[in-house]
Amino acid sequence: MLYKAKILLIYTGGTIGMRKDFETGALKAFNFSKLLQRIPELKQLDCEIETISFENPIDSSNMNPNEWAKIASIIEENYGDFDGFVVLHGSDTMSYSASALSFMLENLSKPVIFTGSQLPIGDLRTDAKENLITAIQIASLRNDDGPVISEVCLYFEYKLYRGNRTTKINAEHFKAFTSPNYPELVESGVHLKLNPELFLVNSQNKEFLVHKNLDNNVAIIKIFPGISEAVLSAILDIPDLKGIVLETYGAGNAPTEDWFLNVLRKAINRGLHIINVTQCSGGSVNMGQYETSTGMKEIGVISGKDITTEAAITKLMYLLSQKIDSKDFKTIFETSLRGEMV
Ligand code: ASP
Repeated sequence: MLYKAKILLIYTGGTIGMRKDFETGALKAFNFSKLLQRIPELKQLDCEIETISFENPIDSSNMNPNEWAKIASIIEENYGDFDGFVVLHGSDTMSYSASALSFMLENLSKPVIFTGSQLPIGDLRTDAKENLITAIQIASLRNDDGPVISEVCLYFEYKLYRGNRTTKINAEHFKAFTSPNYPELVESGVHLKLNPELFLVNSQNKEFLVHKNLDNNVAIIKIFPGISEAVLSAILDIPDLKGIVLETYGAGNAPTEDWFLNVLRKAINRGLHIINVTQCSGGSVNMGQYETSTGMKEIGVISGKDITTEAAITKLMYLLSQKIDSKDFKTIFETSLRGEMV
């Protein structure tokens, strides 16, 4: 008899399972069991599906490291019993969550696919059904060695992306996500077009490790023409702050004024980690290409290369929780751990 993959559907909340509140007209999460009643098509899929829901489903604007730990725990507890996991999640912070989980789940050898929708599943024009059905189908794909996909991904509007390469780009289009610096892993049309040369290698032979404690003593600072010393140093002086993601211009460029580099230097000397990422939606940081980044390179700012801000901030939270020796931190951050950077 043909093997049927077992998929665990994890509902965390998000528009996909919301309906309008009669009194206020605002969208609110509702009971997950009702969500499944609205998609009888799921029964036609060639896999076994079980479901589990957050006790209190949330709009993903309320996501945080504790909620990520809940998702990680559900996967950890069910890892041996299922071939793949599909996480239903609001689109607003889905790229952060997919990035965070990619770091929290080390040596993954099964697919974890995040998906959601722009319109609730009960809406006539919903994008939820296609997203959900194809995400489950991809999570069920197997070859002789086991699951075809063995990484944390995000499926939305006909494309499967590496989760930690994505970013939300549109609040109303069905195409809500993009992966600016890494091509899609799978494209869904009449057939599923797989690009296996882009997949992460399955870590089947290594022990699966789950890291649930992230360190959120971090901040994101987006520089802008006119940013003042008072603002920058006020943030960097926050007690207990351990690292920041600094969104700079173009290929990682920033003002060359003395005060700017002095504030950064003082923070680095106090042990803070500063990650340089670009504000551009595509491309890479290359410190030293312009004079406006050589100063940062010299004082020990870490290059985020072509990482997204979402992956940078979650990688920072993850690495800070790993108690890495401060002299190794820069090298480890600049190394790709889950395919999140070149
Ligand atoms: N605000 C919703 C959320 O992120 C939007 C969505 O589900 O797409 O939960």
